[in-house]
Amino acid sequence: MIAERQKINSFEMAKRQVDIASKYLDLDPGSVEKLKNTKRELIVHFPVKMDGGTVRIFTGYRVQHNVSRGPAKGGIRYHPDVDLDEIRALSMWMTWKSAVVNIPFGGAKGGVQCNPKEMSLHEIEHLTRRFTWEISLMLGPEQDIPAPDVYTSPQVMAWIMDTYSILKGYSVPGVVTGKPIELGGSLGRFEATGRGVVITSLEALKCLKMPMEGAKVAIQGCGNVGGVAAMHFDRLGARVIAISDSQKGIYNEKGLNVKRILEYKSKHQCFVCEEKEETEITNQQLLELDCDILVPAAIENQITEKNASRIKAKIITEGANGPTTPEADEILSDRGIFIVPDILANAGGVTVSYFEWVQNLQELIWSEEEVLERLTRIMQRSFKEVLDLSLSRKIPMRTAALVLGIGRVAEATRLRGLYP
Ligand code: NAD
Repeated sequence: MIAERQKINSFEMAKRQVDIASKYLDLDPGSVEKLKNTKRELIVHFPVKMDGGTVRIFTGYRVQHNVSRGPAKGGIRYHPDVDLDEIRALSMWMTWKSAVVNIPFGGAKGGVQCNPKEMSLHEIEHLTRRFTWEISLMLGPEQDIPAPDVYTSPQVMAWIMDTYSILKGYSVPGVVTGKPIELGGSLGRFEATGRGVVITSLEALKCLKMPMEGAKVAIQGCGNVGGVAAMHFDRLGARVIAISDSQKGIYNEKGLNVKRILEYKSKHQCFVCEEKEETEITNQQLLELDCDILVPAAIENQITEKNASRIKAKIITEGANGPTTPEADEILSDRGIFIVPDILANAGGVTVSYFEWVQNLQELIWSEEEVLERLTRIMQRSFKEVLDLSLSRKIPMRTAALVLGIGRVAEATRLRGLYP
């Protein structure tokens, strides 16, 4: 029971994934060890003046996992559970993800242990500005470029950009992506991760010869990733039967009115059952619903060895990072469930972040159609590359994605050689 209550260590999980993928790559033990370790880690404890006048100390992290293929890239998360190992794991997954979609970025992640739901906008702004200052020695358009993640928003990115620009003495839009459009954000960035989830789900459906029209979809999380994915599934004729937030979910076997539910949630920060077929469900019940596509789009370690045997979805498209543990993976794989792994399924975000960065550096503005067309092409190509590898090597989709991503990073590292 004690073991059951312990938090699953995401970094140990990420390192195990490297071991699994390394079996299919001809790498020397030293290279594997390098890939399993992060490059730079900064821990900061910093003061923030709260609204009541008191000063609170917060702990924040910025970790760069690997920069062999380009500048470090990865989101910043504000959540009470943030710790160093979680940020290490997320930075490693960013490295593989950038390599899977073959864009010239390395991997990084950052976070502050805090509960933004209990903080005012002013307090979040002060926290963001001080945290940016604390980690500014690692940041820069050529060094390390943050983006939004759990409980951070375009507004938070605007404060990061402003603080960094003040430190430099001139505007540096390329230091961060996921900014508001008015500050050099890219059209299509806000929707990118959710759209990528839908594009890869569509490819998975094709593999199983199933139509999108009428497909039953259950989505855990209704934030940037889950909310946008729900809207796009709905637009394509799928039936979104359930969606949740951190408190609870809402379920209608016939399909939810996604627009109404998301509008209500954004106004009142909760769900309410308005139609007689709608019922409240828990996050655990949502994961185990009878559906065609399950999209975990909240946090890590949601599908574990405890519930994997009860998952009824035919396809799992991982909008969240690390929602499935390796033990659960084996169970799902044995049961023939088609998994679109996180480092492929949610790579739409980093892909359009790359477009935003390119536009900032070259002072270009692309249309939304241009962004979406490029995103779709990259997501479809990456899906095909992972699928082909999975079929030719007879390995699960996750292992194939890891082999593709880690293989590309390992080759870049080999070509660069070891200094001195
Ligand atoms: P968000 O803050 O916009 O939304 C998070 C959602 O998760 C909210 O609906 C929240 O209520 C829900 N949630 C939080 N804790 C939960 C819990 N314990 N149980 C169930 N639900 C819970 O964050 P987001 O940007 O949508 O990120 C969601 C996931 O997608 C994260 O794993 C993130 O790392 C990943 N991701 C995000 C992006 C991006 O571009 N934003 C890109 C790639 C991957």
